[in-house]
Amino acid sequence: MFFTPLKYEEPLFRPPSEAYSLILQATIGCSWNKCAFCEMYSSKKFRVKPLAELKEEIKLSAEYFPETRKIFIADGNAMALQFTFLKEILNSLKDHFPKLTRVTAYAGSRDMEEKSLNELQKLNLLGLKMVYVGIESGDEEVLRMVNKGETNESVCRNLKKAKDAGIKLSVMILTGLGGKHFTDQHAIQSANLINRIQPDFLSTLVLSFPYGPDHYKKRFKGEFIEMEQIDILKELRTFISYTELNSSIFRSDHASNYLILKGILGRDKNDFLKKLDFAIKDPGKAGLRDEWRRGL
Ligand code: SF4
Repeated sequence: MFFTPLKYEEPLFRPPSEAYSLILQATIGCSWNKCAFCEMYSSKKFRVKPLAELKEEIKLSAEYFPETRKIFIADGNAMALQFTFLKEILNSLKDHFPKLTRVTAYAGSRDMEEKSLNELQKLNLLGLKMVYVGIESGDEEVLRMVNKGETNESVCRNLKKAKDAGIKLSVMILTGLGGKHFTDQHAIQSANLINRIQPDFLSTLVLSFPYGPDHYKKRFKGEFIEMEQIDILKELRTFISYTELNSSIFRSDHASNYLILKGILGRDKNDFLKKLDFAIKDPGKAGLRDEWRRGL
């Protein structure tokens, strides 16, 4: 991140594609903060910054960076903010940044549930162009075991509503999430859910254990059997083979992934499957990555 006069409450996360965006920390933490696999905001208690303070931050940022074109609203799910509050922020951003082209934020599906189609349309017209949503899984059982607090249907309904409002969707699926027991249903149901949503952007990340596998096993509401690299590749293959997408930009380039795939689904589906088949058959020659796990 570049220099900013703003004071952030760490840790601060943003999607890789927002590396050059100005970050406005409107909320602290995640309003849900209960997912078994996520430690991103476990050190923070969720709260909303006062509007007056945010408006001051916007004014100050605009003095330093008047050329800003992209702004990302943090933290974990700034879309949890009420419609009128978000409207105030977006209006203030529009007033202070004349070259602004897009505002984005992380969002939980439930944050869209609380807003009407009309409200989401208004937010989109005020500059909210895209939301990043961690769907994680389309499988009911896996969603329940990781305590996501969502169902397949709620995710589908709320994300389609955002899309109908003109807000682009960048969604994430977490491979390895259900372990060996649930790998097939996790992969197949996730693909089925993604097919219904037809997101603009889709990415996969691999489950990691910042506090070790045992910590995750304790939080997982079922029997979790950790997956090897080869199992993860097979799960990704199953997931991709079940996708029926028109034109979703796909990436598996987050550092947690073993194999980088980039392209468009469905156009590049067969190409991805061939690469995965090769990697599954001969992992040694496929140039797989595991630096991230080894902490390099
Ligand atoms: S909703 Fe997102 S940010 Fe919040 S705990 Fe779950 S995965 Fe983490």
